[in-house]
Amino acid sequence: MTLLDLRFDNAWARLPEDFYTRVRPTPWRDTRVLDVSPRGAALLGLDARRLSEDPRERERLTALMAGSELLPGMDPIAQKYTGHQFGSYNPALGDGRGLLLGEAMTEAGPVDLHLKGAGQTPYSRFGDGRAVLRSSIREYLAGEAMAGLGIPTTLALAVAVNDEKVMRERVEPGATLMRLAESHIRFGHFEWLYQRRRVEDMKRLAWHVIERHRPAFKESDAPFSELFDDVVARTAELIAAWQAYGFVHAVMNTDNMSLLGLTIDYGPYAFMDRYDESLVPNHTDEFGRYAFDQQPGVALWNLAVLAQSLTPLIEVERLRESLDTFEPKLQEAYARRMRARLGLANDEDGDRDLVMAWLSLLARHKADFHRSFRALGGYDGSRAALSALADTLECETSDPAFKEWVSRYERRLAAERRGPEERRSAMDAVNPRYVLRTHLAQRVLEAAEEGDPEPLREFRTCLADPFREHSGCESWTQPPPRHAPPVCLSCSS
Ligand code: AMP
Ligand code: MG
Ligand code: MG
Repeated sequence: MTLLDLRFDNAWARLPEDFYTRVRPTPWRDTRVLDVSPRGAALLGLDARRLSEDPRERERLTALMAGSELLPGMDPIAQKYTGHQFGSYNPALGDGRGLLLGEAMTEAGPVDLHLKGAGQTPYSRFGDGRAVLRSSIREYLAGEAMAGLGIPTTLALAVAVNDEKVMRERVEPGATLMRLAESHIRFGHFEWLYQRRRVEDMKRLAWHVIERHRPAFKESDAPFSELFDDVVARTAELIAAWQAYGFVHAVMNTDNMSLLGLTIDYGPYAFMDRYDESLVPNHTDEFGRYAFDQQPGVALWNLAVLAQSLTPLIEVERLRESLDTFEPKLQEAYARRMRARLGLANDEDGDRDLVMAWLSLLARHKADFHRSFRALGGYDGSRAALSALADTLECETSDPAFKEWVSRYERRLAAERRGPEERRSAMDAVNPRYVLRTHLAQRVLEAAEEGDPEPLREFRTCLADPFREHSGCESWTQPPPRHAPPVCLSCSS
């Protein structure tokens, strides 16, 4: 299949007129595609190699990324939504620097092609409608890393750089990202209609979501309730996965919450290096609203905002019942992920405490979060393995808390049917060797700014398949140097 074979069915553009504004992309000058994602291409039924190497495909993709050409059947729109940002309602939101170019119909269902950095729209407010290379590369890699870990996410088809410069905290190269998602529908789409008291349009939007994305609820007696239950369940799964893998989204505003339970809108996010549950990677989040350990509570707060918006469609009592399922669902999903990460195949009483004690141990020694799990996978009870584990945690084998935890773990492992070899390979299949660490993304970015996209490709390959060893990629496993200052991240992108 080629780009010209993509078939579009732009359902959003058939919704009531003011749900969006038709806008053409503002073309960029001198655009160069830096990387095409095999996973993103496959989602569309395309082949990344062909998109990069076949001169016609490459030219077409470049023109698309530059915003200078569209594919037949595309009908670009900027979506209107609103949302709560850092706790306050902002009515003036919407696609301000991205356009939904079209909805491709693939074998796996609909896929939005959303060009981020496509120019100004009526929702740009004071923004220039552009994106910079820094944030585009970070978003590109984040989609790959999340998908590699098996965490629901938007993904990108490609990232491109432009010769035009964009002014942010400094002058930076401009860029575009072709973001893919089954749908870009956000909590904020419903908030907008609720705030305007547009009940009929809200029903229409809910039906749109059900028919296109959740057809199983079509025959239900209470389709809207089922849809909300589904959002609660998927959000719980998603946040549990973030917590299990040390991911901090950092801007969990309700306009950045996907109704389909995807991780969306990557800004000043981070995967933690050393374990720190109060991590706030966004330096403009001065009160730590979106700190790592706040994410479950914030997600529930966001769901409550969505619930409020849905009160014209669903009984309040029913919404409450559904919200009440969030916490147990999150706990269940988190326990499942963490048991797997610790190599525990059965579910035993006390596992939760064992997990908490492990995290306290990591916190006490400020151990590297990801390497610690990997090292635990190598633990087989031998003296050598014990000291290797202690080395990774940067503590002494004689440390009382360490000794206490290891003997507890040993006792727990005795209840397992799997032997050390089998356990290790199961752990290696869930504990990534390659993690999207901020300083490594920075390395990729600096090279790309210097005109070298090779590190981007190499790191992307590792992140897309993070559990096995990639030869020659040792440097992509390295934590930051011990006293390196943190990379300063902000929302400005
Ligand atoms: P975000 O913090 O990325 O979720 O963005 C919040 C809002 O600001 C959204 O409505 C964006 O479309 C808009 N926005 C962010 N950056 C820009 C920009 N450079 N130009 C126009 N609008 C922007
Ligand atoms: Mg956003
Ligand atoms: Mg954003």
